[in-house]
Amino acid sequence: MIHLQDITKVYQTKSIETTALNRINLQVEAGEFLSIMGPSGCGKSTLLNIMGLIDEPTAGHIALNGQQITAYNSRSMARFRNEQLGFIFQSFHLIGELSVLDNVELPLIYRKVSSKDRRKMAEAALEQVGLKNRMRHFPGQLSGGQKQRVAIARAIVGQPKVILADEPTGNLDSVMGNEIMNILLHLNQEQKATIVMVTHDETMARKTHRLVRLFDGSQVL
Ligand code: ADP
Ligand code: ADP
Repeated sequence: MIHLQDITKVYQTKSIETTALNRINLQVEAGEFLSIMGPSGCGKSTLLNIMGLIDEPTAGHIALNGQQITAYNSRSMARFRNEQLGFIFQSFHLIGELSVLDNVELPLIYRKVSSKDRRKMAEAALEQVGLKNRMRHFPGQLSGGQKQRVAIARAIVGQPKVILADEPTGNLDSVMGNEIMNILLHLNQEQKATIVMVTHDETMARKTHRLVRLFDGSQVL
């Protein structure tokens, strides 16, 4: 599903060069739930962003769902990202001025889905995360765990093949964190979603199929 070959990422800011990733080779199978761990600054977010076509590698090759990714920032890339990938962030990234329902509908607006279908799909996604009764609320009126569930609904509303989660439980207490983890496990088991999750939490990581450790931009074998 995700095939990374010799991925290197070097950040160049003024005179400082940072090698965030050094020749990473990684293959994520369809239906797999993979977690990525490692100390702060080891390249986890960079790796996830490269998988998600948010960040471009300095060198190396990426194939997603059998498709070789070559040119970045093109229109087709944006469409690919919108249709095939779902993102979940530590800090939720919800839009405070929009209702829960409108936040979840967002990816479908870019896809030009009719308003009637958007509504139906968004309600179904909120139902899946147990938050349909909060669809008229605004993000500021929700707990952290509820916000993250809204973010998950937004990530899955278009039924992406791959879900990329960057420390999805990092801002939550252990009860809420476990709830979020159970939703992700359910998505993986029941809906066959391929999931890659960055986490600092060994307990969460142990519930996934496979754990990849990074240290200083390299994979620890
Ligand atoms: P992690 O997610 O494991 O904490 P990151 O992927 O965020 O690590 O960062 C890896 C390394 O790359 C760090 O040394 C970080 O400072 C550097 N880095 C990340 N993003 C940028 C950027 N946009 N510009 C310059 N350096 C960056
Ligand atoms: P999240 O949205 O998952 O909560 P953070 O708030 O930790 O993520 O922000 C991580 C982002 O900051 C990454 O996308 C990375 O590109 C950027 N970043 C990390 N380190 C640096 C750095 N040294 N210089 C510039 N940008 C950085």
